[in-house]
Amino acid sequence: MLYTLSEVLKTAQKNSYAVVAPDFFNLHFAQILLDCVEQKHAPMILSFCDSKYNTFELDDEVKCIHLVRELSVAASVPVVLHLDHAPSIEVIHKYLDLGFTSVMIDASLRPFEENVAITQKVMELARSYQASVEAELGHVGNGSDYLIHDPSDADLTNVEQVQDFVVKTKVDALAVSIGTQHGFYHASSELHFDLLERISTSTSVPLVLHGSSGTDYEQIKKAVSLGICKLNVFTDLFTVYQQATKKTRPVNLEEVYKLNETCRNEVYKMFNAFLEISGSIGRASDFATSLKQK
Ligand SMILES: [Zn+2]
Repeated sequence: MLYTLSEVLKTAQKNSYAVVAPDFFNLHFAQILLDCVEQKHAPMILSFCDSKYNTFELDDEVKCIHLVRELSVAASVPVVLHLDHAPSIEVIHKYLDLGFTSVMIDASLRPFEENVAITQKVMELARSYQASVEAELGHVGNGSDYLIHDPSDADLTNVEQVQDFVVKTKVDALAVSIGTQHGFYHASSELHFDLLERISTSTSVPLVLHGSSGTDYEQIKKAVSLGICKLNVFTDLFTVYQQATKKTRPVNLEEVYKLNETCRNEVYKMFNAFLEISGSIGRASDFATSLKQK
């Protein structure tokens, strides 16, 4: 069943767990993720990034998205169809038209006032579709861009700006920069829990952790206990999928099935680990009343 980000995160926040937000890039990967959350009775924020590398098994991205949306509507657990890291209103408009129930505007590299202004515009547009909005304050960069393990202070979220940003934009979720990075790390990451605590105290908006891949599980659990309600993960899931596809070059039908099964098993294992640390396993029942109503 399709939900908005706001509906899912409010419930998660009330019950002190996080919802995992994996990116899909083709139909097979989306199906594996949906099967896994149905088995584990967990809500999910199924995310998509507008990129030329997506949907390589289908020529038509729109057809793939329609199919994933249908599968999400039919799912027995709450699913948010979310656009990850959109750079502009134009991109957001395209995916709202395709039926996404949530979008992220990433203006995190722009000055504060510009970030506020574009987020306000996205809010206005998304509300006309009854969709939710996530924005980012501070900047979560790419792990491979950092020669040392820690992002600079300039990239971390400025706690003094949080309340002002949330009041001015009324966003449904806020991505914060507290020490994680996207992609692969050069070295292990250390999260800034003191900063996260101060951010959590300064606002009641649900907080989002990007770059969960490669981060120590105990640190992620602690971040969830301190107010993180959404865990973005891609690199770890993609890596096991890619390694599984590399293992076999199918030459007959039996081997095609075997390859699909291997991919599925590897992604299941990794995704399940994130579902466990998020605390979201079995939590689809939190939505049981509204699921029946819809
Ligand atoms: Zn991200």
